[in-house]
Amino acid sequence: MNDQRPNLPPARADVIVVGGGHAGIEAASAAARMGCATVLVTQDPAAVGRMSCNPAVGGIAKGHLAREIDALGGVMGRITDRCGIQFKLLNTRKGPAVRALRAQVDKYAYSLAMQTELAATPNLTVAGGTVGQLLVENGEIGGVALEDGTEIAARAVVLTTGTFLKGRIHLGLESRPAGRVGEAPAEHLSETFAGLGFTVGRLKTGTPPRLHRDSIDFSGLDAQHGDAQPRFFSHATTGLTLPQVTCHLTWTTPQTHRIIRDNLHQSPMYTGRITGVGPRYCPSIEDKVVRFADKERHQLFLEPEGLDTPEYYVNGISTSLPAEVQERLVHSIPGLEQAVLIRPGYAVEYDFVPPTQLHPTLESKPVRGLFHAGQINGTSGYEEAAAQGLMAGINAACRVLGRPPVTLGRDQAYIGVLIDDLVTRGTEEPYRMFTSRAEYRLLLRHDNAADRLMPLGTELGLVAMESYRNLQARQQATRRELDRLDRRRVNGLADWPARRARSGAPAAGTSLAEWLRRPEVSYGDISASDPEAVADPAVAEAVEVAVKYDGYIRRERERIAKNAGMEARAIPEDFDFEGIPGLSHEVRGKLGAIRPHTVGQASRISGVTPAAISLLLVALERNRRQAAAS
Ligand SMILES: Cc1cc2nc3c(=O)[nH]c(=O)nc-3n(C[C@H](O)[C@H](O)[C@H](O)COP(=O)(O)OP(=O)(O)OC[C@H]3O[C@@H](n4cnc5c(N)ncnc54)[C@H](O)[C@@H]3O)c2cc1C
Repeated sequence: MNDQRPNLPPARADVIVVGGGHAGIEAASAAARMGCATVLVTQDPAAVGRMSCNPAVGGIAKGHLAREIDALGGVMGRITDRCGIQFKLLNTRKGPAVRALRAQVDKYAYSLAMQTELAATPNLTVAGGTVGQLLVENGEIGGVALEDGTEIAARAVVLTTGTFLKGRIHLGLESRPAGRVGEAPAEHLSETFAGLGFTVGRLKTGTPPRLHRDSIDFSGLDAQHGDAQPRFFSHATTGLTLPQVTCHLTWTTPQTHRIIRDNLHQSPMYTGRITGVGPRYCPSIEDKVVRFADKERHQLFLEPEGLDTPEYYVNGISTSLPAEVQERLVHSIPGLEQAVLIRPGYAVEYDFVPPTQLHPTLESKPVRGLFHAGQINGTSGYEEAAAQGLMAGINAACRVLGRPPVTLGRDQAYIGVLIDDLVTRGTEEPYRMFTSRAEYRLLLRHDNAADRLMPLGTELGLVAMESYRNLQARQQATRRELDRLDRRRVNGLADWPARRARSGAPAAGTSLAEWLRRPEVSYGDISASDPEAVADPAVAEAVEVAVKYDGYIRRERERIAKNAGMEARAIPEDFDFEGIPGLSHEVRGKLGAIRPHTVGQASRISGVTPAAISLLLVALERNRRQAAAS
């Protein structure tokens, strides 16, 4: 750990953010830009923005989150665009709900750019130090104490401690305390939770070995190129900053699987040394070989970690086998026969604080003014962490400024789905976002994140007015073009006969909108023969989605409207769930533990049946009448 302390923390702040990872950055940046005197305390200021694992941002559902963060005025999208070395829109052949952007990132440039960004943020001090204790009086946060005894007072604290709480890394049969390789864990903070009335759990995750570029034989491997015309995460980005690179594809072999099976007794997971639960959807290679024993090979991507580093990340072989075994298994993979390991993979086990102990604002239930965001809540992934960090930072600032709290609905944003899932259902394994977790995914598309969230980001003061005006101009252009497509007839187009041959003859007088609704026709077909078609790709995409999916989108809106009453029906903060007649003991216990804020939230608690919701509604109505009468 670098123990340089470039800034001494002030004695007092409005908001303290603990941790300089992806959650901490967004929390601190948002709180400071909303006008709060903010201190970000992190163990090593030179590690701010470090990517613990893969050098990439986005992907399916994660790309949606990154776009939403940007639309609300967060920093992740902008810095990713600036440091991106390969951009790819995924699932282009599938429906718009599951299309998503992914960028390979120069991880060193990313971390540096984040540090520069924070250094230039008004109202924000980044200070080095390890927080060992929370200062709490009468159930309310008053500040933090560092392990060296320094105290900082504040009205709100956001904890974003990642994998560092009692972190322990495992490599083969050896293990040692660490938050990430080469970085000390936070040993004491975790102990304070029990005294404050929190429960704490244990999870684990892992990372693959890093290889030296010059030792990889790329000649026989499939090259994976980025998009020729890249899209970006941020509404503010206008073009590429860095040169673009190629990734490569390779596969494990039967020999790889044999080496792994023969050495499972040296894998800390299989010897029972790691007890924490790992990420089911991002399993180690040991897990994949055991769980999918009939699979002959597993796909691996070789991804450069930056432009000025020889390090390559092997996406797909996260492992904690001994280094010598890792070397042998790597050498059994085509292209990697002579590969030199710069660093072996490893697993890390850490404490997390189950997120059902939080309100939907991410403020903790046991301690007022204390917010939790990121991996401390049991999630996995940079985007999930950043999304929570942004919302926790916004709500910490709202608390200090006396503004109403901000939460997002499940019909508004993936961020809303993420936080509702965490605080309502909790998680017993590292939680990552999937499009399948969202019930309104045709409305929560990556292409309309700005439409959904930029007005709120602007209202909060996190998005520049100019960006909002650009959005309004684009929305107007989309409406105009939709109007025009309704009015204009297809047989008026210049090269109509050629187009007709491809898509079959529409009836005379068919509008361009009706024609575009056909599966085989794209907006590109219209712009190829219609000089009045719009050139802005964002408008073209919005128009195409609006026309083609009009019926589905309308149905999703109807479902939302139908559920709106129940979703919004508030449950008073002090409501007595124990007093609801007819409810089972188990359901009462669950409602009492989660203390849902709305009937919609109550209905998503596992085990709370529709019959229980009916009883809750009756009790709420009785409560309302009694309150009105008194
Ligand atoms: C080995 C490894 C493998 C991973 N593999 C994957 C993967 O395959 N896929 C995936 O999606 N995600 C993976 N992750 C998780 C991903 O890195 C995290 O989800 C993400 O970085 C979490 O962001 P965060 O901001 O919550 O915490 P982090 O990025 O971990 O940052 C936490 C920060 O808090 C600081 N800190 C902690 N405690 C204190 C304290 N008491 N006082 C002061 N500062 C403190 C730390 O120094 C650090 O700067 C992996 C992480 C690790 C470590």
